[in-house]
Amino acid sequence: MEEVHEAVIVGAGIAGLATAIALKKVGIQSIVLEKSHQLRSTGAAITLAPNAWRALDSLGVATKLTSIYRTFERGYVTNLITGATQEQSFKGTNTNSGDEDMGVRSVHRKVLLETLANELPENTVKFSIKINSIKSQEEEDITVLQLEDGSVIRTKALIGCDGVHSVVAQWLGLTTPVDSGRSAVRGLSVFPAGHGLKHQLHQFVGNNARCAFVAMNQTDVFWGITTTDGTMVPREPELIQKEVTEHLAKDCPAEYLNVIQRAELSTITWAPLMYRVPWDVLFGKTHRGGVTVAGDAFHPMTPDLGQGGCTALEDAVVLARCLANSRGSVSSGMEMYVKERRWRVAGIITGAFLSGWVQQGGTGWRWWLVKLFRDNLFYRFVFPRIVNFVHYDCGVLPEKEKTL
Ligand SMILES: Cc1cc2nc3c(=O)[nH]c(=O)nc-3n(C[C@H](O)[C@H](O)[C@H](O)COP(=O)(O)OP(=O)(O)OC[C@H]3O[C@@H](n4cnc5c(N)ncnc54)[C@H](O)[C@@H]3O)c2cc1C
Repeated sequence: MEEVHEAVIVGAGIAGLATAIALKKVGIQSIVLEKSHQLRSTGAAITLAPNAWRALDSLGVATKLTSIYRTFERGYVTNLITGATQEQSFKGTNTNSGDEDMGVRSVHRKVLLETLANELPENTVKFSIKINSIKSQEEEDITVLQLEDGSVIRTKALIGCDGVHSVVAQWLGLTTPVDSGRSAVRGLSVFPAGHGLKHQLHQFVGNNARCAFVAMNQTDVFWGITTTDGTMVPREPELIQKEVTEHLAKDCPAEYLNVIQRAELSTITWAPLMYRVPWDVLFGKTHRGGVTVAGDAFHPMTPDLGQGGCTALEDAVVLARCLANSRGSVSSGMEMYVKERRWRVAGIITGAFLSGWVQQGGTGWRWWLVKLFRDNLFYRFVFPRIVNFVHYDCGVLPEKEKTL
């Protein structure tokens, strides 16, 4: 069987679904090929900054989420060694963006993905799809996908939104993402009778780990830990939970440990933190003919600025706008897109890496200097500058025009 589609998106994560919506808004029909049998909400929750809310607004879905989730006004960072706590106000972040609705919020990943998917015509997302090969034909104007079930899909625009281990990025010739040597554990804890916690973001910084939790609503608390401890490799949720309470987070307050003990086991995950080297994003093959990448397939980054998902949403809007404005030339639309995106995302990859490095801690005199910098300068002066990234506005989508 052979099908022809104007655009084919690989991966139904945040980037893939948002890209399909953005293309639909500018009049480009697409299908989304997802390898899992359903939407994958690994990681339980995600924090979205003003830049993400602006992109969601352009996609026409922001209010569906802002009506459920409240913005944060405050965050606290506690140094577990000295006991000192620094306050971070998100008020400036919210007001700077000119609109309280664009403020920082944590949302359930499942709710985010379902909200995006509900914007698409039925059957846009095809599940349980395995791609066997990608080939370009007719001087790279047409891309042909061969699927495992024997069917063939031809398209003018192939967009890889297939995450950090992207097959489309590999096909383009981008380098394999690098393991940062750090890893993250995440989970969601549910307190049906209410957790009684304030709607604030809390972080605890120690020698080998950075622990955080955030109350998402009256009943749900999202928590996460990033660590340099390489021994943290169990896959079973019970073992991960045990490792966290007895080892990684043992110095955190009882309130934090209580949250972890109440975690829903099905939500607990452990993952290595990967990133793409910024120079590959700047100078690598991020586009070829009618093929490009978006989201983690383009610019995987460590989660230290909470920007991977936010920038994936920006990608979707910018890519659709460039394709709509390129008067039918997919290749030049994609070229415009990577030109517009690469410096911004390379900067954020670098900022996130540095931010994680200084905040993680370690041992020896070098780390003593890093800690001195972190505790006296970083949170007060450097971090507020880095987080300026979040005020970016990716702009709006043009009115529906014509197909590719
Ligand atoms: C610990 C941690 C915390 C984070 N916190 C935040 C945060 O607070 N805020 C934020 O903005 N970002 C955060 N991020 C980053 C964010 O999770 C990612 O940037 C985001 O999920 C990327 O979305 P994506 O759609 O590009 O990729 P993914 O979410 O990885 O989705 C890719 C999709 O493609 C599918 N797929 C993969 N390969 C194939 C294939 N060959 N064929 C078909 N389908 C395929 C997958 O099944 C998946 O559904 C965090 C990341 C980590 C690790």
